[in-house]
Amino acid sequence: MAMSKDPVKPSEALLKKTTDLMHDGMDARAFGEFEMPPALGDARWTDELILSTWHMAATGKVPDNLNYKTGLSNGGFDRLDFKMLNEDQWLEHSEDIDTSISLNRRGDERHNPTPPIPIYGGGMSYGSVSVNVMLARAKNAQKWNTFMSTGEGGYPEQLYECKEHVITQVATGYFGVEERSIQAAPIVEFKYAQGAKPGLGGHLLASKAGEEVAKMRGSVPFVSLFSPFPFHSTYSVEDHSKHIDWIQTVNPDALISVKVSTPHDVDMVAVGSYYAGAHIIHLDGGFGGTGAAPEIAKKNIAMPIELAIPKVHKFLIKEGIRDNVTLIASGGIRTADDIAKAIALGADGVVLGTSDLVAMGCTRCSNCEGGPSGRGCPWGLTTTDIELQEWIQQEWAVKRLDNYYTALQWRLREILRQLGLGDVKDLVGRTDLLKYVRGDA
Ligand code: SF4
Repeated sequence: MAMSKDPVKPSEALLKKTTDLMHDGMDARAFGEFEMPPALGDARWTDELILSTWHMAATGKVPDNLNYKTGLSNGGFDRLDFKMLNEDQWLEHSEDIDTSISLNRRGDERHNPTPPIPIYGGGMSYGSVSVNVMLARAKNAQKWNTFMSTGEGGYPEQLYECKEHVITQVATGYFGVEERSIQAAPIVEFKYAQGAKPGLGGHLLASKAGEEVAKMRGSVPFVSLFSPFPFHSTYSVEDHSKHIDWIQTVNPDALISVKVSTPHDVDMVAVGSYYAGAHIIHLDGGFGGTGAAPEIAKKNIAMPIELAIPKVHKFLIKEGIRDNVTLIASGGIRTADDIAKAIALGADGVVLGTSDLVAMGCTRCSNCEGGPSGRGCPWGLTTTDIELQEWIQQEWAVKRLDNYYTALQWRLREILRQLGLGDVKDLVGRTDLLKYVRGDA
């Protein structure tokens, strides 16, 4: 996928809009004056996409005058569009269009959550983000009757108030994995790999592993923490099956999600995961990750999510098991249009991570690891600095996320309405409703 590495410089008019939108949405944070970042976004997360996300988070509505659908990456989702019907064939109303999905299609005796939107929150660990960010995402998940994942840094005590909506992640470092957090979980997610850095595991800088984070991870403060790749106990489907047996012994009702990156044989991995007992196969493409993921790995290893989804979807059909498993995609899903395109390519739903951060004020400045101050995100998102994290106030942040999800659902329904579909499940795998948009390049 051709893509500029240089940030797209925003115009004067867009910078003015940035100021207005940031102040509109952030009154509760009593910002006062702040320094404008020298550039906003890149070809994938353009300045307009960031601004439109802030607009949606502030108002619950899509903007009239900003592109809230696609970026300028010259590839992937940005080169796909829908073959909408003529206006006289559109459905009359969109409010009744069903956007719910089922997360347990195995037909076993476990529960079958059906979030009203085909979206849940992806794992961002305690340590990579503050507990305030985690709690805001969990409360929004509760509001929407969907889920968010802890990521691999353990399960902070404050999250237990939303436990019915919190996915416990078990990753290769086993940081913070406890019987209690597995027993509390409606879904347990095994993270085998992360799309932004497949084959590399995780690394939390010493500066972010403060007292509380280290305590949660069973470490000592201010020591770098690595989670290895891969699970050193899992080298086969049989090993994976034993992993799942272990979780089922601790919590027999939890659904099992398996998060994998997108190597060329991801279709085989998906089928193996299903036969090992997974309810959800979660494909994570290379465009996700916070600014902490190494640039050398991001986008450069494994397959783009736009190719991995149809590859896995078709293979699951060929194996006769597509209807028995939920296929979830993440790693670069930015907009409601991306969500609909991922579903048309073959996913049942998506996981959002970066988009949640942008809705809470992320400027995509890539300073998540520390930035000039060494204290982490200046907006209080990817930091554990005790002062900076206070920028994320609960009521404000939950409202931003709730508004954003409201706007995403509205746009998703609008797409379905213009395609003549009354249920998002009817869009799954409908590549015939997509068209490739040629650009100048
Ligand atoms: S440092 Fe904060 S604003 Fe910058 S990319 Fe990371 S989360 Fe976003």
